[in-house]
Amino acid sequence: MTLAYIGLGANLGDAQVALLQAADELAQMPGTEQFELSPLYRSAPIDSSGPDYINAVASFDTVLTARQLLLALQDIEQRHGRLRPYRNAPRTLDLDLLLFGDQNIQEPDLIVPHPRMHERAFVLRPLSDLSPGLILAQGPVAALLAACSDQALARIP
Ligand code: AMP
Repeated sequence: MTLAYIGLGANLGDAQVALLQAADELAQMPGTEQFELSPLYRSAPIDSSGPDYINAVASFDTVLTARQLLLALQDIEQRHGRLRPYRNAPRTLDLDLLLFGDQNIQEPDLIVPHPRMHERAFVLRPLSDLSPGLILAQGPVAALLAACSDQALARIP
């Protein structure tokens, strides 16, 4: 089993519903155990456009390999009708593989740890809710989060 962290984001349609459905689908995947979902947050788009994003992070143990998990994430995205008309277009659902155990993967279509996660409050905040003591290559999650305090983020009650 490998402990995986997934970043979930959505900003089109009923983003909150899409996100909770996707979380459910991750929890129901064969070989998922110890599934946890962080609180949901609302954030302004970064490198993107359209309405605010809803974000969360999920963590779970999985029997899948990182590549199998990436394919499963893409499958869930597709079923939520994600269109990719242009890079960083608004999306109904975006699922990112943030961390996969302590694996370091550098392949053209799969980079883990996710290369931008350490500078994004909408990832770091829910990540620290789930695992406050987590330490990334760039430093402790709490310190990285403090460094992006300029990025507005609102917890959804
Ligand atoms: P995005 O538009 O941000 O969802 O990016 C999707 C593309 O990023 C896909 O072609 C993936 O193969 C690639 N990719 C690379 N690393 C990752 C990762 N850690 N998690 C999800 N997608 C990734």
